[in-house]
Amino acid sequence: MSTLTDHLETLSNARGISGAETGVRRALRPLLEGHVDKLWVDGVGNLFAHKAGTGASPLRVLITAHMDEVGLMVVGHTGEGALRVDTVGSIAARVLPGLSVLVGEDALPGVIGVQAIHRANRGDLDKAPGTDKLAVDIGATGKDEAERLAPLGTPVVFATRFRQLGASCMGKAFDDRAGCTALVALLRGERFPFDLFGVFTVQEEVGLRGAQVAAYTVVPDVGIALEGTLADDLPKEEPDVSPTTELGKGPAITVMDRSYITPPRLLSHFVQVAEAEGLAYQFKQPGIGGTDSGGIHRARAGVPAITVAVPCRYIHSPVSMLRESDLAGLVSLVDVAARRLAPSILDRSA
Ligand SMILES: [Zn+2]
Repeated sequence: MSTLTDHLETLSNARGISGAETGVRRALRPLLEGHVDKLWVDGVGNLFAHKAGTGASPLRVLITAHMDEVGLMVVGHTGEGALRVDTVGSIAARVLPGLSVLVGEDALPGVIGVQAIHRANRGDLDKAPGTDKLAVDIGATGKDEAERLAPLGTPVVFATRFRQLGASCMGKAFDDRAGCTALVALLRGERFPFDLFGVFTVQEEVGLRGAQVAAYTVVPDVGIALEGTLADDLPKEEPDVSPTTELGKGPAITVMDRSYITPPRLLSHFVQVAEAEGLAYQFKQPGIGGTDSGGIHRARAGVPAITVAVPCRYIHSPVSMLRESDLAGLVSLVDVAARRLAPSILDRSA
């Protein structure tokens, strides 16, 4: 297993829904210690890693990856001792029934209850119950026990464990532990000409919140968000519909999503670097999703930002799939493109 895959395994298996990212922060620290000049955590829980530059470039560069994953939160208890839950971040209720989950700090095993097929009405078999109709069963024998084991606000995550499948990897939360893995690799590498602030952000899935705070703190000249993004190349329902991104075709560069539009010069810089170096890349189909760049570009007096992502199938579900070469390609592209950034690329006055 490569170092990259090894780190992806550690970070994918770590647990951290939005607002409860402690487990991911804990998993990241040992991967960064000794490779960066300073590590600290801010008031909202963002983990900052500062790597001083060689002094050759005057720029301050912010690279982010979000620590939080989508999941569930306990919002109530039934008389029988089951947990009522609500989603944190966007998850389609139809993927939830019957899943194994882990509840709270102590990772109590549980299952999202589903009515046995024997008892279901014929008409209900094809319908997915809403999240408000679902209950997580942790084996508690009554309401008191359930309240003690999993009080209101307890986070619930998918119990999926990481697996390597040849050239591919399967696991939970690749959005955005793939980005976190790539940022770790960049921070462990050679010094950059500029001061690099790598920030592992909180609460991206509920509104790009940590990145906005991080950009306010760092006052960067440019922001780069590393992501695990949607790849809907499988299963193909309509063969003539072009997928958002595809596995194995390299990292995906965002031109525009619902949260921001990439400045043209910055966009063409990344494309030119990829072309010049013969690095695989693809564009993410415009208009879909939001990323930390949406938070970064609105900070202070405005920050040019770009998002580059590893295509991942089945994101925001219990299991995602990615290709290791796309993850390695993201690290290479961002490494080279960042090293060649010049103030003229970021100048929007002309
Ligand atoms: Zn994401």
